[in-house]
Amino acid sequence: MRKSVVAIVGRPNVGKSTIFNRLVGERISIVEDIPGVTRDRIYSQAEWLNREFNLIDTGGIEAGDEPLLVQMRQQAEIAIDEADVIIFLVNGKEGITGADEEVAKLLFKSNKPIVLGVNKIDNPEMQETIYEYYSLGFGEPFPISGAHGLGLGDLLDEVIRHFPPEEEPEDDDETIYFSVIGRPNVGKSSLVNALLNEDRVIVSNMEGTTRDAVDTPFTRDGQDYVIIDTAGMRKRGKVYETTEKYSVLRTLKAIERADVALVLIDAETGIIEQDKRVAGYAHEEGRAVVIVVNKWDTVESDQKAMQKFEEDIRTQFQFLDYAPIVFLSAETKKRLHTLLPVVKMVSENHAKRIPTNLLNDVIMDAIAVNPTPTFKGKRLKVLYATQVSVKPPSFVIFVNDPELMHFSYKRFLENKIREAIDYTGTPINIFVRRRQ
Ligand code: GDP
Ligand code: GDP
Repeated sequence: MRKSVVAIVGRPNVGKSTIFNRLVGERISIVEDIPGVTRDRIYSQAEWLNREFNLIDTGGIEAGDEPLLVQMRQQAEIAIDEADVIIFLVNGKEGITGADEEVAKLLFKSNKPIVLGVNKIDNPEMQETIYEYYSLGFGEPFPISGAHGLGLGDLLDEVIRHFPPEEEPEDDDETIYFSVIGRPNVGKSSLVNALLNEDRVIVSNMEGTTRDAVDTPFTRDGQDYVIIDTAGMRKRGKVYETTEKYSVLRTLKAIERADVALVLIDAETGIIEQDKRVAGYAHEEGRAVVIVVNKWDTVESDQKAMQKFEEDIRTQFQFLDYAPIVFLSAETKKRLHTLLPVVKMVSENHAKRIPTNLLNDVIMDAIAVNPTPTFKGKRLKVLYATQVSVKPPSFVIFVNDPELMHFSYKRFLENKIREAIDYTGTPINIFVRRRQ
């Protein structure tokens, strides 16, 4: 099920990031850090009364050196386009300013629910001043203090009141959910259109889709697929789409519910830094990944060119050594038919369960070849291993002392698991625990 999205808007310095950080708290990442991938904290998960949602700090999306008013307009548009509920934040110490009124005008025209937060109300005496904010036209103003964490509960109660009712999660393991990600102009929408226009593809009837993040279900060769969030790709032409932080936001939103992320690269321009960051998000979120080299029609296509490009990818995307590479052209449709079978294969690997005895055989065989390390005279003892979850496959290895598990030995065990079991296209997690 799609999580609701809440965006915080307001002019600079009203306290948007302060509130964002309060609501998000510290997100604990279970995946190891990839060098070079620093998460821009403008989009994160939050939770209130057991309702999980995603929060956007639109203030973090700055469009270069555009004038302030233009930036505020863009931030409000992003909130209107992306969010289910908008928190409009003003500064309770300063009263209503012209800039607040500008933002209010834009929000007023949207049909999204708006919750008005009056920030910097740091003590109860200041509460009397909040009535003037009724004049903004968004109903009851909620006094809060981001700095002191006051009033946030009432504000959030009001926010989640506007969420759609919770649906039962669909228990449909057969459908493969995937998204197409990549920096602007690599050919994401071209690829989606090409896929959906293939002869053997049957696109399901989409009438009745009301929510703005449209998923496109289709069937090919008896397999059901859903492409996630193609609406965002089709709804184009906004100025802010070229800002990198906005594309990060789109990327995170698109991979959120996907099993498989297709990371698109442009063969014509080659690999740039931004491609690696995009790929890093998919890896960090534990999705299955296929690297798709698009615009292959622009390259003198022979075996050598392909090998050369593949080497380039392997050097630059070392953290994605498990991801298969597909070369194609969305425009000429050359090799396009090779893509979906690979998507299906990695999706199956992503959801693969292996029997505990097989896993333990693999690990014990590995240890027989390359004995466990010792540290300060103490030897690592591996007791047993078990798979704890799928998507991605995650294992726990129980040992005498986790401190003795050097990362290189863990890496060795991972390689041995990958040699024995086909996990092409999926990351795998290995957690090391002390056995009680
Ligand atoms: P943004 O530009 O809207 O993201 O605003 P920031 O979150 O960066 O906050 C701007 C300034 O206001 C910072 O100096 C914050 O410390 C301060 N601030 C944020 N919330 C509060 C609050 O509740 N009370 C007070 N007194 N200051 C706050
Ligand atoms: P997006 O921003 O990632 O969605 O990229 P688009 O699908 O809008 O494509 C960007 C540009 O690349 C457009 O001008 C497309 O016509 C072009 N393009 C997309 N795929 C291909 C391809 O396979 N070969 C060539 N030569 N051009 C392509």
